[in-house]
Amino acid sequence: MRSLGAMTANVRHDTGDALVEMKDVDKFFGDFQALKNINLHVSRGEVVVVIGPSGSGKSTLCRTINRLETVSGGSITIDGQKLPEEGAGLARLRSDVGMVFQAFNLFAHLTILENVTLGPLKVRGLKKAAAEELAMQLLARVGVEHQAQKYPAQLSGGQQQRVAIARSLAMKPKLMLFDEPTSALDPEMINEVLDTMVELADEGMTMVVVTHEMGFARKAAHRVVFMAEGEIVEVAEPEEFFTNPQSDRAQDFLSKLL
Ligand code: ADP
Ligand code: MG
Repeated sequence: MRSLGAMTANVRHDTGDALVEMKDVDKFFGDFQALKNINLHVSRGEVVVVIGPSGSGKSTLCRTINRLETVSGGSITIDGQKLPEEGAGLARLRSDVGMVFQAFNLFAHLTILENVTLGPLKVRGLKKAAAEELAMQLLARVGVEHQAQKYPAQLSGGQQQRVAIARSLAMKPKLMLFDEPTSALDPEMINEVLDTMVELADEGMTMVVVTHEMGFARKAAHRVVFMAEGEIVEVAEPEEFFTNPQSDRAQDFLSKLL
């Protein structure tokens, strides 16, 4: 297991009130059911780590939360608002929910600073000076402020992923979704990204994190959600889940990780 930096562990910011509420969510791709009756409540300030085998529906779950995918049945509310199908409400929702993927997805032809100011300028309507000030604060927070004038290809994978996190934070999201944010990184760069995520968790950001990094889950998660074949099979606090998994499928999954 990876040892993360000397951050505070499992600080409880969970306020109990729902930021994300998924009720009886089903998702079909044609005849194939990728999500089966998903019920999930994420409180404001809570960090939920989603784990499970490949193909179990983790990415689809994230994508329905920020409406990159529609649901086939059930409902999702974010901060009390039902997910809109389209229009201005959808644009607002997208900027309320930040998402960081496995691939860094930075714009290659824009500088690091321009990547981070783009959303605030275009979507939040900030003036250039204000957007740049915000961007520099966020780049400093993730430790890449000296790279501001460079282009993505000039940065390491770990630095690019931290820029991607800063770019999401620039939209002042209520919720951050991370879908295997360290899976494409060389091993020596994984911790710098996980440390940034632990810091965010410590600051009280509400986060849903799909990851195979069990050290991160133990350190930062308030709850672990275990998925298999489109279903939520088990939900537990991390120590409980890792030391005493209840289902055969979770036991089997954990035994293969070691
Ligand atoms: P995970 O992220 O846990 O690996 P995914 O959510 O990506 O799993 O996928 C869950 C299942 O849904 C897989 O069997 C996958 O092939 C299927 N799936 C995902 N996206 C699509 C799509 N756009 N069209 C058809 N099937 C899909
Ligand atoms: Mg996935």
